[in-house]
Amino acid sequence: MNTSYQLFINGVWREGSDGTKVPVINPATEEIFAEVSWGTPEDAILALKAGQKALSGEWSTWSPARRGRFLTSVAAAVRRNAAELAQLLSSEQGKPLHQATSEVEDAARYLEYFGGCADKLTGMTIDLGPGQLDFVLREPLGLTVHIAPWNYPLDIFCRSVAPALAAGNTCVVKPAEEISLVSLALASLFQQEGIPAGVLNVVPGPGAVLGKVLTEDPRVRGIVFTGSVETGRKVLEAASRNITPVISMELGGKAASLVFVKDASELDGPVGGAAGAMAWNAGQSCGQRSRWYVRRDLYAPFLERVAERVRSLKVGPFTQPGVSLGPLASKKQFDKVMSYIRLGQSEGARLIVGGGRPEGLGEKGYFVAPTVFADCHNRMQIVREEIFGPVITVIPVDSLDEAVALANDSSYGLSSEIWTSDLTEAHSVAARLDVGHVTINGSAAFGFEVPFGGVKLSGLGREGGPEAILAYTRLKNVWINLNRK
Ligand code: NDP
Repeated sequence: MNTSYQLFINGVWREGSDGTKVPVINPATEEIFAEVSWGTPEDAILALKAGQKALSGEWSTWSPARRGRFLTSVAAAVRRNAAELAQLLSSEQGKPLHQATSEVEDAARYLEYFGGCADKLTGMTIDLGPGQLDFVLREPLGLTVHIAPWNYPLDIFCRSVAPALAAGNTCVVKPAEEISLVSLALASLFQQEGIPAGVLNVVPGPGAVLGKVLTEDPRVRGIVFTGSVETGRKVLEAASRNITPVISMELGGKAASLVFVKDASELDGPVGGAAGAMAWNAGQSCGQRSRWYVRRDLYAPFLERVAERVRSLKVGPFTQPGVSLGPLASKKQFDKVMSYIRLGQSEGARLIVGGGRPEGLGEKGYFVAPTVFADCHNRMQIVREEIFGPVITVIPVDSLDEAVALANDSSYGLSSEIWTSDLTEAHSVAARLDVGHVTINGSAAFGFEVPFGGVKLSGLGREGGPEAILAYTRLKNVWINLNRK
């Protein structure tokens, strides 16, 4: 495995202009396993200049079909290198190998999906009457900036870079400071497949410094951001300077799951869903089902069975076979989640299982045992705020109306779900949930082919699906006078 990573600017691998190199820590062992060069504001400007220059270079001669074929070839390269990418992702982010492998495949699917969209973009003509021709061109936005988080670094990189490139834009990507190696490894595959210099640039480094430079710059014609609400606000403020279009902002959530199956014999699905909400990515997902509103007659059996299932989850480093969840991605995230667990206890929630470090894993590694809090209510901070860890809260309810009202009583509005065997109930709840994404009897359909994004503090815009690529384009109207003498 490569142990030294550099910035990728204008087709060249280079150190940051001030020579800063930062150790990269494996969150399961707290040991340094690699180092990465960090960019400075000067490097960020260099990347922006490269991205802007590339718009009128070789890239502008590529047909949409060629851009599509190129993205498909990168998807194939990602699949050929899946084992190495998954290993690197697990090493720096902590997720178990099977989850890392699934994320690598998701990245390939984004490239493939949007590669397929590249030659399907069209403009239109508008009939204004005799003697005139009016047509609408669909053009790329230009230079785009992509600020990515650390929870799904490969997936989120490809979900915005793929449509941006498919539509003919150029990109500067700023990965999260603690988890940037896989983004750089991915960039090397774009390079290997022949991306022209400057079309894709990756600048790791501190977000507070680089993020500001990248989002305030007048050359930038589109921004994509995934992360916290607090930083999202800063990005919007910076974008407002030059009225830079913000293509999408995915700012997290506090997804509700409503358990309204017929009786306790139908609890297998929701119990599996609750365990999965803690195990998948150790709960560090914007769509994590973290609030469980359970009909009162199902409440006790649900808690009993979730606790039993959670006790069977194996927590450990990705190098151990059969691990269901790994450590949290960083010390910062570990401290945050542990403080929410203490807060939950002080708020009076009843701890059913978990509640600290798992036993038998020693002192090293940012491991948190899957944790279930029962007897919660909507005024508790652990129910209202995004914990972003393997923690769920469970709340008994007496009716579907009450459950829907409580689910919607949140400043977030990304995703929510219902478990029911009643089709009418399912449709009616889907219509009433104030979110951008509803699932029924399961938690799939988060990517590529379907639109994903939120309302309220969860953000704006949609990623994925046939319309997502349109947000990376702009319309230009052209009118011709055909009666000129
Ligand atoms: P941030 O929102 O701070 O980080 C997201 C990205 O924004 C990172 O690349 C970060 O860089 C960058 N960034 C930081 N400051 C700025 C800035 N001023 N301008 C532009 N970009 C900036 O999230 P954290 O990593 O601090 O996580 C905190 C919480 O946010 C989590 O606990 C979780 O609740 C939520 N979150 C939600 C995500 C989602 O999927 N919606 C993803 C990640 C976090 P750097 O890493 O270098 O600081």
